[in-house]
Amino acid sequence: MRHSGDLMKDRGVIGLSEACLGQAEMDAACEVIRSGWISQGEKVRELEAAFEARSGLSAVAVSSCTGGLHATLSALDIGPGDEVLVPGVTFVATVNTVLYTGATPVPVDIQPGIPHMSIEAAQSALTKTTRAVVVMHYGGYQMDMSIWSAFARDNGLILVEDAAHCPGLSGVGTNSDAAVLSFFANKNMTTAEGGLILTRDASLSERLRRMRGHGMTTSTLSRAAGHAHTYDVDLPGWNYRMDDIRAAVGIAQLAKLDEFNEKRRHLSAVYRSLMAEKTPMISIPFSAEWPSVAHLMPVFLPLGTDRQKLMDFIRKRGIQTSIHYPIYHHFTWHSRLLPNVNLPFAEDWSARTLSLPLHPGMEENDVEYVVENMAAFGWGA
Ligand SMILES: *Cc1c(COP(=O)(O)O)cnc(C)c1O
Repeated sequence: MRHSGDLMKDRGVIGLSEACLGQAEMDAACEVIRSGWISQGEKVRELEAAFEARSGLSAVAVSSCTGGLHATLSALDIGPGDEVLVPGVTFVATVNTVLYTGATPVPVDIQPGIPHMSIEAAQSALTKTTRAVVVMHYGGYQMDMSIWSAFARDNGLILVEDAAHCPGLSGVGTNSDAAVLSFFANKNMTTAEGGLILTRDASLSERLRRMRGHGMTTSTLSRAAGHAHTYDVDLPGWNYRMDDIRAAVGIAQLAKLDEFNEKRRHLSAVYRSLMAEKTPMISIPFSAEWPSVAHLMPVFLPLGTDRQKLMDFIRKRGIQTSIHYPIYHHFTWHSRLLPNVNLPFAEDWSARTLSLPLHPGMEENDVEYVVENMAAFGWGA
């Protein structure tokens, strides 16, 4: 056991997020390598079936959430001439996937102090060419999808969830055209790289199964097994396949996912109560009761905080932090494509937020250590 108080003596760095992999994942990967079939095959199907059993939806595993979002928007016929509403606070991939289709992303502001897309701002961003809206469940904190599905229905829009932060969150994909999870190394479960599309629309999932593999009508596995000898290409496609090595790791991770998420929620609750006591000037978005898989531990710093100084102060004490997210419309590339975007609440969030370490390998005393060091910063000095 590590104890707070003895500072960095026998304490390693507390990482912002760490993958929790063990013997089960190693055995699963080795078993696939030994089997002789390493690319997309039965393990991928098994991972999909496990997600289908959990959600009651169709599941299509892909090589990343980014690829999954691109394929989904394309399969829903989003393309040049279309406008797609995207959150003002998100990872740049959300916006890039819209750009890949040739459609125009339209950044929409968030709620004040809460990094979820604002419905009022979305309403006022609508034009005659708006075709879709992509929402993002920031930090694994679930958006109210009944509101967004009504908004999409009333305005004839396609609704897609960037659910990168949401592996294990129940309900994703049930109130939209599709939701896309990420299994990147820092997400709630991992296959190193990977993602999965959930949809209630069986014809969409069938198109996506072909589009992830070059648009081909038969898979490599069915050809290798002699079930098919040739193929046609009847849809646009890419190589967005997952492979069986990753899928096997994913199956082992999925067995632990609910436990991981429970630990994340517990550690988040510990953060909330300790910070209410020790750093009351810092606010924490959402609430302990908010439906969530607690992917991130975001805080909102008081106006005027020297955030870089704070990050340096706690990094010297072995604590990693990050910012979710820098404003993408200020990036060199995106500012050229998206000039004149002005989102006051997104910009305020991005300037004042800080994400604290949160992963299932942490213990309560790690959280105490982080909060003690946050409190020890020269606030107002
Ligand atoms: C991680 C992430 C992605 C991209 O996921 P990949 O699986 O790495 O492609 C997309 N959107 C958000 C919000 C993310 O955090």
